[in-house]
Amino acid sequence: AISVRGLCKDFDGFEVLRDIDLDLAPGTTTCILGPSGSGKSTFLRCLNWLEEPSAGSVHIDGKPIGRSGNGRATRPMARRELASTRTSIAMVFQHFALWPHLTVLGNVTEAPVHVLGRPKREAEEEGRAILARVGLTEKADVYPHTLSGGQKQRVAISRALAMRPKVILFDEPTSALDPEMVGEVLSVIRELAREGLTMVIVTHEMSFAREIADTIVFMDGGRIREIAAPTDFFTNPQSDRARRFIFRP
Ligand code: ATP
Ligand code: MG
Repeated sequence: AISVRGLCKDFDGFEVLRDIDLDLAPGTTTCILGPSGSGKSTFLRCLNWLEEPSAGSVHIDGKPIGRSGNGRATRPMARRELASTRTSIAMVFQHFALWPHLTVLGNVTEAPVHVLGRPKREAEEEGRAILARVGLTEKADVYPHTLSGGQKQRVAISRALAMRPKVILFDEPTSALDPEMVGEVLSVIRELAREGLTMVIVTHEMSFAREIADTIVFMDGGRIREIAAPTDFFTNPQSDRARRFIFRP
């Protein structure tokens, strides 16, 4: 389980996240919705300490991220400890962020081999199995620049899966894609939800969120305004802001 308490973030005195509390149960899919600038990406980045929160804590299975020690006597984690804690949280970005100089399989096995220290042959075997799962068996040995956007994003998802993370964070995984490629990426994510992965997905795909989320989190102005089951959120939003967001023309 992941638990977030009192998370705040400001950039030079400008408050971007305010006092965020959130619990994510294992095996659940949480979709984060909200207007542009509401803090969704910053929140995801704070979850795995890509961005250091100004206050608050994030725990994964009881283990703190970013800070060591207990209670008030905490200190920033050493870089190496942070890197190792972070391996349990994978992130998939809007613009894929693949390594251009590595093949598809190389992208998928790089971190398992060099960060987790898995034997190369084993990582490659598992990597090929993951690529088969996302329909990319034939692409294992090509370089990313030869792929379509949808294929690139499926490689990015494979790379995340190869770390066997406790949670995968997605920041608008389909918004850089041509419309005809959105479907193939959404079906991969849908399949992962069915398999019981723990996922947090920032998305503007409302019908997709409604279909796959166990929980909808609605953010506005750096705060969580609603946490609700999808049917409740989409049929009976509690705030005006959410109502306008859902039913905007
Ligand atoms: P979008 O839907 O457009 O992606 P978002 O909900 O992901 O928006 P964020 O990217 O988290 O929003 O940004 C929230 C606010 O924080 C914005 O006002 C943004 O300008 C500000 N912000 C984000 N990153 C920084 C930064 N590195 N320095 C200063 N301000 C920042
Ligand atoms: Mg964003």
